[in-house]
Amino acid sequence: MNTKITLAIQKSGRLNEGTIDLLYRCGIKILNGNNHLKAVAEGFPMEVLLLRDDDIPQYVADGVADIGILGYNEVIEKGKDISIVRKLGFSRCRLSIAVPRDVNYTGKEWLSGKRIATSYPEILKSFLAENSLQAEIHSISGSVEITPGIGMADAIFEIVSSGGTLLSNNLKEVDVIINSEAVLVANKNLCESKVDLLKKLEFRIEAVRKAQRNKYILLNAPKNKLNEIINLIPGMKSPTILPLAIDGWCSVHSVVNEEDFWEVIGKLKEAGAEGILVVPIEKMVI
Ligand code: ATP
Ligand code: MG
Repeated sequence: MNTKITLAIQKSGRLNEGTIDLLYRCGIKILNGNNHLKAVAEGFPMEVLLLRDDDIPQYVADGVADIGILGYNEVIEKGKDISIVRKLGFSRCRLSIAVPRDVNYTGKEWLSGKRIATSYPEILKSFLAENSLQAEIHSISGSVEITPGIGMADAIFEIVSSGGTLLSNNLKEVDVIINSEAVLVANKNLCESKVDLLKKLEFRIEAVRKAQRNKYILLNAPKNKLNEIINLIPGMKSPTILPLAIDGWCSVHSVVNEEDFWEVIGKLKEAGAEGILVVPIEKMVI
């Protein structure tokens, strides 16, 4: 029998596009996804369940889905007994305390005795307990940001990404409690053949993520500056060096990490590099 792994993803919302894009980069296309609970995947022995993100932890804990993709915030809120396999680098946001702009927030102690509206009551409860704070938790499922303005709450504990929603509701972010991004989760009792499939999927995800973090770089270098330039871009093993048609110059090809990118480019120019080209990498396997 050919084993398939069942993946639960968000049907629609802020995780859906990033998830579909990641799977696509991993060579996995989801067919007949629209308006179905179950979809077939092409390019990997996989079945896909399209769910509300709130339901994914339960499905994975029960083994109805073997693995899932959802926000770290939701995994922590639901508190189910599932494994976090790896971070995926998209749908980044944070869960923060925000208060009306004119409040003089002096620190966490300010929250003592206050009414805090949130759609993450469990995370808030743990945060308050860890800090020995007593406050009233108002658990609501949407539009949390409007509650201080209508007198329902003194503060909120909610998802923030750009801060635009806070601004338009006259609120300010005062404490970041957790940072979140999409994560891959798994059932804790997968059979051996499904563990194998999960490893294969992780291998593909790793190649995609590495590629996203790196750029391919090509440049022309004067031969007398070659050593200095090579030291700046050591690449995966070592850079490729090809002679140019004119004397005294060569072409250097390598890989550069996105985080160091601008700093490295500056140093390369100072070292005498010319005609620097930087191109995206699709997949990277080391
Ligand atoms: P569902 O209908 O599936 O229950 P939802 O309304 O609960 O969806 P979304 O608003 O689609 O949830 O957000 C899903 C997840 O995306 C959040 O739990 C969080 O991890 C992440 N997220 C939420 N807002 C943002 C944002 N503004 N920027 C980036 N990521 C976000
Ligand atoms: Mg939800």
